[in-house]
Amino acid sequence: MALLQISEPGKSTDPHNRKLSIGIDLGTTNSLVASVISGEAKILEDNNCRLIPSRVLYEQSQILVGNDIPNHALTISSVKRLIGKKKDDIDADNIALELADSNEIFIQTPQGYKSPIQVSSDILKKLKKIASDYFGDEIYGAVITVPAYFNEGQRQATKEAAKLAEINVLRLINEPTAAAYAYGLDSKKEGVFVVYDLGGGTFDVSVLQFNEGVFEVIATNGNSSLGGDDFDQIIKNYLINKYKFNSQSLKDQAKLNLIAKDIKEKLSSQDTINETIRFNNLDYQIDISLSEIEKLFAPLLDKTIQCVKNALNDANLSTDEIDGIIMVGGSTRMPTIQNHIKKFFNQNLLNDLNPDEVVAIGAARQASVLSGQANDDTLLLDVTPLSLGIETMGDLVERIIPRNSTIPIAKAQEFTTYKDGQTMMKIHVVQGEREKVSENRSLGEFIVKDIPPMPAGAAKIKVTFQVDADSLLTVSAEEKTTGIKTSIEIKPSYGIEESEIRKMLEDSFTNAVNDKKFRSLAEVIVDANQILELTEKAIQDDKQLLLESEKSTIERCMNNLKSEITKKNTSKIKLATDELNNASMSFAQKRMDNSIYSSLTGKNINEINK
Ligand code: ADP
Ligand code: MG
Repeated sequence: MALLQISEPGKSTDPHNRKLSIGIDLGTTNSLVASVISGEAKILEDNNCRLIPSRVLYEQSQILVGNDIPNHALTISSVKRLIGKKKDDIDADNIALELADSNEIFIQTPQGYKSPIQVSSDILKKLKKIASDYFGDEIYGAVITVPAYFNEGQRQATKEAAKLAEINVLRLINEPTAAAYAYGLDSKKEGVFVVYDLGGGTFDVSVLQFNEGVFEVIATNGNSSLGGDDFDQIIKNYLINKYKFNSQSLKDQAKLNLIAKDIKEKLSSQDTINETIRFNNLDYQIDISLSEIEKLFAPLLDKTIQCVKNALNDANLSTDEIDGIIMVGGSTRMPTIQNHIKKFFNQNLLNDLNPDEVVAIGAARQASVLSGQANDDTLLLDVTPLSLGIETMGDLVERIIPRNSTIPIAKAQEFTTYKDGQTMMKIHVVQGEREKVSENRSLGEFIVKDIPPMPAGAAKIKVTFQVDADSLLTVSAEEKTTGIKTSIEIKPSYGIEESEIRKMLEDSFTNAVNDKKFRSLAEVIVDANQILELTEKAIQDDKQLLLESEKSTIERCMNNLKSEITKKNTSKIKLATDELNNASMSFAQKRMDNSIYSSLTGKNINEINK
């Protein structure tokens, strides 16, 4: 989904330079970095490791990330759960962290207090380094994925982490949307897809609707404390109960967690495990079958199914209306999960890509498109999710680039002044589908100055909207007689959540009739006010031309129009406007004759003919 940004003047990017772009899946448990190389998205490895554990170890003199951290070291992990949150938002008992006095979250380390943004930025730095080492070159930009349910604060915090890591964020995209890109679902015309993402510590299910080139997240559900770790716990307890593994210390617990995780992962590709495990200097002969363990997993599976049902319910869809189910997250490798979901939807799953890699792959593809590197066969259709326009008189929006326009795109339209002698004009840029300015999203504004004084409606200001391949919007305004282009003073405006886009679209449908009424009313009021102002000024300037009877008729019509404006009945205002026009017709005629007369006075016939 396009996140619309406003570029700063002169900073618009040239899509033709060589630009290395990467996709980053900044996961709770594992992170990955990928890039499109010769047309194909590839995971970039860190010393042969594809997954980079999202862990950071702060030592006095160095910061270690992911696979660089020695086994069993106590590290900061799952910081994604904290990013963009305040102390009040979290259940601090569950998380090993030190909280400073303020409402901000800080984690105590040998290098001082670190915020979740700083910790995330250290992970991002590592990912960026893997990529720049691979290419031996600077990385131009990255697409970073975030969960669909992330709010604006969490998205902003992720961007700040990227900024700290000196990463140019081309766009944040939702993890399920990235997975859909990885499967090339955007090449289909339309469809509704479910993304089932079971990671290390979280479960997310999203319903995506792909329509006219745009993915919309139409429902999300999940459980932020349900993931692969819970399956590990079940196996760990099983080992303790059945084989009397004895884990007293924290370190033993950690070791046993790893053993359990290893068993779980092996059971994804084999039906039984018969082996001797050495633990605390004792040998344990274990003999485990998949079917035995799967029974223990059932309650966890049921929980995920319930979330799927909730999401479908929210989206008002039944299982047979779903066009595809994408499996995401390392934990979906478990056969019991595959089987359950397949049965639940009664259809085959999209699972031929590595489930822990699809998000990074999709992000890399999107990054390649946004940096202008993708060639035609990998080009993704990208469109403006909402219309773009400017405010005109009467609190109305004039749309310049309609929603769903394929980008890049440029469109221009001419506007004019409302008052005689007007020398400035405000260009207020808005995004949305509603007729009334305040019902749309305000993106920014700037002032066109130094318009030469002219009668109302004579000046011509050409306003150009340009959206480049990176969804950056540049708005420029040119005054036609002087040719002066106004520099834009709009600061970058960041993302809009998909739920917000969806709501804006829905609102525009449900309010379509009222909006139309609002527009016709607003338009007649603008006309009426303009005529009132002109007539008032005319009376002031040329009252000597008016007969008393004429003057009183005109004033009666003016008062009537003013009172109709307050009553807001479109056709009555129109009627009263026509009445005023008729009543002042002969006055207007007299003024015109008079002005011709005065422009002729004192001139000889030759001059007049010129
Ligand atoms: P996240 O998105 O939360 O960062 P991942 O998608 O990388 O996490 O998933 C990590 C989880 O996937 C871990 O719990 C890990 O044990 C689990 N996992 C990875 N491979 C397998 C496998 N073959 N079988 C079962 N679980 C697996
Ligand atoms: Mg993930």
